[in-house]
Amino acid sequence: MVSSSNFENVRGIYTILAQDSNWPNPSNIFVIPDESGFSLIDVGCGGISGIEHLLDGLRYWGFKVQHLHTVVLSHSHPDHMGAMWWILEKTAPKVFIHHLEVETALDPANLTQTFDIPLAKRQWAASERSDSIQGFDLLKFFEDTGCSMSAAGQIEEIHEGDILGLGDFVFEVLHTPGHSPGHISLFEKNRSILLCGDILGKGPAWYTPSSGGVIAYLESLAKLEALDAAIVLPAHSQILENAFSAIQKIRKKLLERESVLRDMLNDGTSRFIELTEALFPNPRLHFFPGCGVTESHLIKLEKEGTIKRVGQRIVPVLT
Ligand SMILES: [Zn+2]
Ligand SMILES: [Zn+2]
Repeated sequence: MVSSSNFENVRGIYTILAQDSNWPNPSNIFVIPDESGFSLIDVGCGGISGIEHLLDGLRYWGFKVQHLHTVVLSHSHPDHMGAMWWILEKTAPKVFIHHLEVETALDPANLTQTFDIPLAKRQWAASERSDSIQGFDLLKFFEDTGCSMSAAGQIEEIHEGDILGLGDFVFEVLHTPGHSPGHISLFEKNRSILLCGDILGKGPAWYTPSSGGVIAYLESLAKLEALDAAIVLPAHSQILENAFSAIQKIRKKLLERESVLRDMLNDGTSRFIELTEALFPNPRLHFFPGCGVTESHLIKLEKEGTIKRVGQRIVPVLT
């Protein structure tokens, strides 16, 4: 079902918003027209519903995929770039992605590392739970849930501080890791529009140590806060008109998780899996993203000197 509220012209950016912000729905897609065709920022999932989402949006705005000349990817996750295979069958746009996402964009099997699946498998084994998870295959999981990943073909690397001119927009590239190593946000200063990818939305995106973890996520939030943007276009929810409160909400949630862990550790809980269960009441989230999120917080607390590991146990450092 397509609703006209999914399509808005936001200061010259044409939106193609997803029906639902939860996985496995595709990301929002943003269209920037110009004289020679148009650019896309993110392209959505690779499954049938993802391609329909993209096609419906292009049809609504009156564009043909053959006139797509540039794609900018916020990061190399399947809900943002899975539809690249379909685009590449029709045309050959320039594809820009942060240099730290190139390996995963060219060979999605590498996502297993940035999703920290080996870490989750180790913690799962240590928790003496069912070992059925040991055969977990991330790319198959994407495919089975209807949001498959695809490789990007050729890529142009971008870096922090680069300027991307799309139509008459001038976007500054901001490296905003935490959720993925080379996640970027794009800021258009003249129009005060921030495209924040997965960093802001209804709730925090998941994070794992190899994607930057909670330390990088908090730094990314501070970087976005300093922009003082008037309008935020997130990848997974409706348009946000108060950047400050959107950022505060996510930061608060991240710090709440940290305080849950501190309290539990101070009360004598020392097992990793019990900490994960406390952060994620839904058991389906314990393996992923639960283990990666928990480990990210433990790394931060360890660096700050408030906890230490004793074998498999995690204990507070007494001062
Ligand atoms: Zn993502
Ligand atoms: Zn996403």
